[in-house]
Amino acid sequence: MEIRYLGTGAAEGIPAVFCQCETCRKAAKQKGKDIRTRASTLVNGKLLLDISPDLYFHKLCYDLDLWKLKAVCVTHSHSDHFDSQELTRRSSANYCHIHSERPLTVYGNSKVCRMGRESFKEEFGKEEDPSVVFLLAQPFSEIRMEELTVIPIPANHDPREMCFIYLIEEGETLILYANDTGLLGSEVYDFLKGKRLSLVSLDCTFGFNKYHGGTHMGIEENLAVVKHLEEAGCLTPSTVITATHFSHNCNMSHQELEQRLGEAGIRAAWDGMMLKWK
Ligand SMILES: [Zn+2]
Ligand SMILES: [Zn+2]
Ligand SMILES: [Zn+2]
Repeated sequence: MEIRYLGTGAAEGIPAVFCQCETCRKAAKQKGKDIRTRASTLVNGKLLLDISPDLYFHKLCYDLDLWKLKAVCVTHSHSDHFDSQELTRRSSANYCHIHSERPLTVYGNSKVCRMGRESFKEEFGKEEDPSVVFLLAQPFSEIRMEELTVIPIPANHDPREMCFIYLIEEGETLILYANDTGLLGSEVYDFLKGKRLSLVSLDCTFGFNKYHGGTHMGIEENLAVVKHLEEAGCLTPSTVITATHFSHNCNMSHQELEQRLGEAGIRAAWDGMMLKWK
């Protein structure tokens, strides 16, 4: 399996769209790994986790062949994860002259499916289009996609909708992609019990700052999740643990995050970071 982090920032990005705080000013100057676009990750070049509002920029940055995409698994409907309007540009009506004959399958909760169809209606006057199909993702219900199996798992994020984190499996390789979420429910650890994870990718929106909202995480919550996973027998000496979805509220540069998280055995993800397993 090959995964590539396309965007590792929170909703406002780093530097944040309208912000002039020290973290944002430094990032704008420093560039490189201090720039964090909105969250999205590509798996095996064919499965996209979330449609970031920065997808077009990602395509340009990383030379992505997005026509090869088979499916998108959407975590939730927040605008930094689901730019539904962008999907209409896969339609052969004006926007996309040649794409694969099969429709792109987009899996998500009921709000995601509704928003997606509404975007097509707004653009073309009808909800259905042969270029994209929206399918309802169900908690703990397997999605098969060629060599990949994807399992939506309930997140703890926005109570107004069913938000998902995802378990993605290819042979012996199992990755847990967990943003956006706060601490996970006991049913999640029951489900994961004994599954040996190659990668645990965690929401670390608040870094080393305290966060009391419960719907995202910082290092303290990340370490609590890691402990639960350890107790559930999910970690091996080769399990890689990464943190992502950083916001400027971390008040840290990438280098600082890399060092401080590194001391806790966690790697700070960055835009463009690639991880591979045989
Ligand atoms: Zn987010
Ligand atoms: Zn800022
Ligand atoms: Zn969110």
